[in-house]
Amino acid sequence: MKDQLTACGICGGDGRIANAFGSHSTCPGCHGSGRPQETTGFRDVTKTKPSHFKPAVSKAAGPTGPRMPTSPSGQLLANEINASRSPPEVKARLLRETVEHEDTHGQVTQTFVKKTRKLLKS
Ligand SMILES: [Zn+2]
Repeated sequence: MKDQLTACGICGGDGRIANAFGSHSTCPGCHGSGRPQETTGFRDVTKTKPSHFKPAVSKAAGPTGPRMPTSPSGQLLANEINASRSPPEVKARLLRETVEHEDTHGQVTQTFVKKTRKLLKS
C-alpha cells in the first residue's frame, strides 16, 4: 500500500482509475501524478446574485400558452390536476376553470378545490 497521507484520494496514488469499460484512464483527481491536488484553485461560482434571475411571473401568459393559476392554492390544485390520470382535455378544462375561478374570486377557494378533486382520476 502507498502512503495514504500523500496519495491521491481518488486513485490511491496509482495515477489512473478503472473506468466502466474495464480499461484504465488517467485519474481526474491528480491527473496521473498520484498526489492529491490543491483545491484552492477552484473559482467561487456561487456568488452570482440570484436577484438577476427572477423568473418572469406574468398572469397573462399570452394567447398561445395556457394560463396558470398564480395563487398558492391555485398552483397546488394545478399540480394535482397535472399529476392526475385524467385525459389531457379534462386537465386543460379543469386548469382553465381554475384560472377563471381565481380571476373571479381572487383566489382558489377550498370549495372549488374539493369540487375539482372529485373530477380528477388519481
Ligand atoms: Zn489520482
